[in-house]
Amino acid sequence: MPETKDNKRYLYIENLGCAKNQVDAEVMSRSLEKDGWILTEDASEADLIIVNTCGFIESAREQSIDTFFELRDVNPKAKIIVSGCLAQRYGEELSEQLPEADGVFGNRDLKQINGFVDNLDRQRLLVPEYPDPDSEIYDRDHLFNYPGSAYLKISEGCNHRCGFCAIPLIRGSLRSRKMDAVLDEARTLAKKGIREINLIAQDLAAYGTDWDGKSRFLELLQKITEIDGDFRVRLLYIHPDAFPLELLDMIKANSRILPYFDIPIQHASARLLRPMKRMGDSTIYTDLVSKIRKVLPECVIRTTIMLGFPGETEEDFNQVYDFVKANRFNWMGSFVYSREEGTYAYDLTDEKTHEALSKVAAKRQKKLERLQEKITAECLQQFVGKEYDVLIEELIEGEDLAIGRIWAQAPEVDGLTVVMGRGMVPGNVYRCGITKVNGVDLEAVRI
Ligand code: SF4
Repeated sequence: MPETKDNKRYLYIENLGCAKNQVDAEVMSRSLEKDGWILTEDASEADLIIVNTCGFIESAREQSIDTFFELRDVNPKAKIIVSGCLAQRYGEELSEQLPEADGVFGNRDLKQINGFVDNLDRQRLLVPEYPDPDSEIYDRDHLFNYPGSAYLKISEGCNHRCGFCAIPLIRGSLRSRKMDAVLDEARTLAKKGIREINLIAQDLAAYGTDWDGKSRFLELLQKITEIDGDFRVRLLYIHPDAFPLELLDMIKANSRILPYFDIPIQHASARLLRPMKRMGDSTIYTDLVSKIRKVLPECVIRTTIMLGFPGETEEDFNQVYDFVKANRFNWMGSFVYSREEGTYAYDLTDEKTHEALSKVAAKRQKKLERLQEKITAECLQQFVGKEYDVLIEELIEGEDLAIGRIWAQAPEVDGLTVVMGRGMVPGNVYRCGITKVNGVDLEAVRI
């Protein structure tokens, strides 16, 4: 693309979806910055807009397209590229059916973004295949992360084939990054003063199993914790059917790893879990939660529950409701099943039945979320009256208040801690006394 305006070229990236997408957005922006692009937070002044879409479920796809059109309206002159999971999965359709887009770029070889941008006038669609995994370079500057916190992606894709999930279709089979590359990135983050490294993957514990069937996750984790620096490590997403119990003693002995678990259990009814291609049931998953809490009583557990999977009955729902009630997860996300082409579960129902069940599931979801809000608020009481380090994310303008997180609150998905006090700087950590629970958030005073 030619140089514009003051001979500077401005780039705006809108990221949607999960933390893995966020890392991809960071990689693309870093790559383009090396070519002279300047990142702006104002879409209206951009020469190039990238909408990094999510294609996980129907509602995420709708949000991605809505965002695209909003940005198109905000800045009709900019070149606009649709990237990310939606572009990867539906590249050709998007290219044909979305003439308002100047380009459609898949997410399997992000290094090609520079050439794609330079060639936009000649090529509108590029859905590259994966490069040789050893050639992968993750050059990022953590531009979209919260101050003091970074995501570190240790693998791409997934070898599980959960019956409902389109992610392996979009991101492909598991490809673990080389251990040295992950450790180098962790060292860079530590040197930059990052206080919280959030490890991400579709299933952290599967790290390395694509090499010879053996997980190298604990080895990698141990090595990360040996890196110099003042940081802690958070583990995001471990598949419940392959949870490495040795991890518990490791965390107990290593204060650098936060006793925070994100285990997307999805359901408690074995009748539904089997076609989901998941091995557990209410008893097995309750047992896992008990084992974790037995070794690490102060731990925090987050889970995700899916409602409206084909065939879900009131009885199945009652089972998962009771399961959530009994296990008292600190945090829970929920979503309504989305019928995804190409997945095993797609043919388990037809569109009419699916739509009818989705409506019921949305009501069930509200009921489950009401329960969870109460549980979360009760669980948060364990922090009141105690002192914690709070990582500050932002200051509230004009007030002596800042927003941050204690270790029990993961970025983006959990509640926050509102801190009363002066002179705080985003990205720094301050010792605070927790004074009360407010909804799913905490309130604190700087000490
Ligand atoms: S573990 Fe299952 S739900 Fe998660 S990405 Fe892999 S296939 Fe999808």
